[in-house]
Order: sequence, then C-alpha cells, then structure tokens
Amino acid sequence: MTIDAAFSELTTRVKRVHTLGLIGELLGWDEQVNLPPGGAEQRAAQHAALAEAQHEAASAARLGELLLELEQQDATLSADQRAVVVQVRRDFDRATKLPADFVREKAAQGSRGYHAWARAKAADNFAGYAPVLEKNLELAQCEATYLGRGAAPYDAMLDKFDPGLTAAAVEKLFTELKRDLVPLVRAITASPVAAQARAVNAKLRGFPVADQQAFLREVTAALGFDYTRGRIDVSLHPFCSGTGGDVRMTTRFNVDAPLDALFSSIHETGHGLYEQGLPVADLGTALGIHAGMAVHESQSRLWENQVARSRGFWRHFEPRWRALFPMQTEALSAEELYLAVNAVEPTLIRVDADEVTYNLHIVLRFELEKKLFAGELAVRDLPAAWRAASRELVGLEPATDREGVLQDVHWSDGAFGYFPSYCLGNMIAAQLWYRALALRPALEEDFARGDFSWLLGWLRTEVHSHGRKFSALELVRRVTGESLSPQPLVRYLRERYGAIYLR
Ligand code: ZN
Repeated sequence: MTIDAAFSELTTRVKRVHTLGLIGELLGWDEQVNLPPGGAEQRAAQHAALAEAQHEAASAARLGELLLELEQQDATLSADQRAVVVQVRRDFDRATKLPADFVREKAAQGSRGYHAWARAKAADNFAGYAPVLEKNLELAQCEATYLGRGAAPYDAMLDKFDPGLTAAAVEKLFTELKRDLVPLVRAITASPVAAQARAVNAKLRGFPVADQQAFLREVTAALGFDYTRGRIDVSLHPFCSGTGGDVRMTTRFNVDAPLDALFSSIHETGHGLYEQGLPVADLGTALGIHAGMAVHESQSRLWENQVARSRGFWRHFEPRWRALFPMQTEALSAEELYLAVNAVEPTLIRVDADEVTYNLHIVLRFELEKKLFAGELAVRDLPAAWRAASRELVGLEPATDREGVLQDVHWSDGAFGYFPSYCLGNMIAAQLWYRALALRPALEEDFARGDFSWLLGWLRTEVHSHGRKFSALELVRRVTGESLSPQPLVRYLRERYGAIYLR
C-alpha cells in the first residue's frame, strides 16, 4: 500500500468518526433547545447508541494498522500529514487503551456525580458530595495510568483539553499573572467609580426580548457570523456547537439585564467564527479541527472583550441600540453606557465575574486541582482551602460551600484540568490583540465604522486556517513572535480598566 493510499483511507475513517460526533452534538443541541420533556429517555438511548457506534469506528483494528504503517514511514510524510497522524494516534490510544469496563464505569460515575453535585449544592452539603469527588479523582488517576501518564496525572488531564499543555507551564504563567493582577483588582475595587458602575447597571431595566434579539443578530452578523452556515437559538445555558457549515449557538434573555444576552451571544459568536473559519475540506482531521480549548476560548474572549467592550465598537452600535430602546436608554449618557459595559465587581461566583476578576477565579481552581492531584490536599479539606484561597485571591470569603467549592459543575463528572483553558484563553486573546494592533493601529476606527473584516480576516489566516496543526503555545509563538505570557493581558486590563477606574 502506498503512503497516499494509506493516508487517504485513514482520513476517510477519521472523518466518519468525526461525523458521528457531530451527529451527537446535534442531538445535544436539540436536547437543550427543542426537546419535549417526555423525550428525555429516548434521547438518552439515542446518545448511547451513537456513542457505541462512534467508539466502534474510533477503535477499529484497521485504523491501528494504518497508523502503524504511516508511522513507520514517518520521514516521508508531509508536515500536514504528520499532524493528522499524530492527532489520530492520540484519539486512537484514548479509544483503545481505556478498557470498555472502565469507560462505562466512568460514564456512570459522571452521571451519578452530576446528580450528587446538584443535590449537594441545593442542600449546601459538601460532606455528602466528598465521596463522589474522591471517586472521581481515583478514576482520573486510573485513566492517566491506562494512557501511560500515571506519573503525571494532572498533566494528562490538561492535555485532554489542550494537547501538550503541562501543569508546570500553567503554573509559571499563573504565578506571574497573580502577582500583577491581585493589586490591580484591589485598586479597582477601592475606586469610587466601581460603585458608580453598579448603579448604572441597575438602571438598565425593561428591554423587550424581541428587540434584544434583533439587536444581537445585527451585531453578530456585522462581526462576521455567517447565518447561512449557522444559527442562534435560546437555551438555559449559552453554548456553541457544530462546525463548518452548520454552527449552532445559543443565548438566553433577561429583560432586566440586556447586556448579558448581548455579551454572551458575542462570546458564542467568537467560538462560532472560529468553527466557521476552519478549513471545510479537512473537517474532522487535525487540519480542520480547533487547536484546543484555550485557543477556542481566546477567540470567544477576543470578540467579547477586546472588541465588544471597546469605545470604537460602541461608537458604531450605540445609536442603533438607543433607537431600539429609546425609553430605556433616555437617562443614560454615553459614558455611563461605557461604564456599564466595563463594570468590575468582585464576586464569589465565577460565572458572574467580570473579565478582570474572572482570571483569579481560575487561578484559584488551578491551584486546588494541582494540590489534589499531587496528594497535597485531601478532598475533605477542600472547603477550607477554597475559603482561604478565595480570601487571598478574590478578596472575598464564601459564607457557604454553595458559594464556594460547590459552585461549579466541572468536577462532578470528572472534568479536571478544564478550568485553566478559560484563563489561558484570556491571555492568548490579549496577546493576539496587541499583535493585531501592531499590524493595524487603526483597528478601533474600523470598529467605529462597523467594519470588523480586517480583524476577522487576520484571525482566519493566522489562527483558524491552521486547525490543530500547532499546539496553543506553538500557535501563539508563530502568530505573535513571542512565547505566551500573562503580560499582554495585564497590560490590556491596566489600559482599559485603569483608564476608567484609576484616573
Ligand atoms: Zn466560551
């Protein structure tokens, strides 16, 4: 068999696995957007049948043979072919090295864990949830061992979401970020402008959903989201799924919090633009899938924060917003609107956090996860460790575990190692932003004209078109000429928020 024939058969098989995954995503989207309650059980059976078919295709012996054949001729592969083979090897090992019994046990534990977490959170009862977390940690350790990463289980967790990422690399970045960010947050919080921002936000009331919907659709289309290849609907929690020619985003509305729906839609649009920008012909191989969660999150954060919280963006959209909501915005000055868009207020709850303090919530979780996996922290001591870290980092101490260690769903189904990608995404976004500004200093003037095409075109070329050919850290180096650093994020936060709060 020639290399090209083997490679072609490999990609055909891998694309089929990916397609089955996309069908699963579509079932998941439908479940959250349309499914009548009576259909829940049928849907669970559909998910299970599909997952079985997908696992069968992903672990087929023939795929292993093709991989060996291609790996033996590694020297003759092109760089693109090598990237594809490396990715297939990762997925194939994951599909074949984990025993079926273990996968079943982990899935069942994940579902039990989710329900146990929901109960524990409602009752503010950490003790009842602790055995579940202990079991989840044990399964994570097992998983790392099966994958040959038993000596560095937390690295194995990070690597699942961001290929190649290690705890040591994250720790270095987060330590530096923490050093510079904690004093900045303290200074902003102490500023009298912080209270003003809260007061302005409280004035935004009574924004009809239909008009909010019309506005955010105009905005997201102007940013470049192609509605002939995607759509936006309503769900309980906003998300984005699908890829290529069929990207599904969701948002949610609150008549008394119009900026929430807008910014969460813009966030999901960032994810959607990335998925729409991946090379369609290569969907499903490393050349046509995203580069990991940190890079994905950088795309959503860049559009949500650097772009949509800028003065240029609002110079363009403010007149339209006021025209849609004349009564609601009558008493609001342009400066007040800008303040509401950039309100900073430390909160105990991560998902409610503004873009400045958000990062500290992630540092907190990373530090605790790292200690849990290193055996330096016992699950039963988590609540106290959480309170101490929250006081140190966020400046607030939760009175209940519901507002502390029980607030996030992630650990309940064993998704350790996911949190860092949120903060790394913010760092990458800021670093990309300054690179874009260096190339096109008048970027905000583009925005003020309602023109976002240069930025999108640049991201398409520099980020989207590469798929997963490079790791997050490699990609940042290639695009910006420098290693990933927290300094661009610190600089961006100082510049934008310093100008508002520390005048
Ligand atoms: Zn996101």
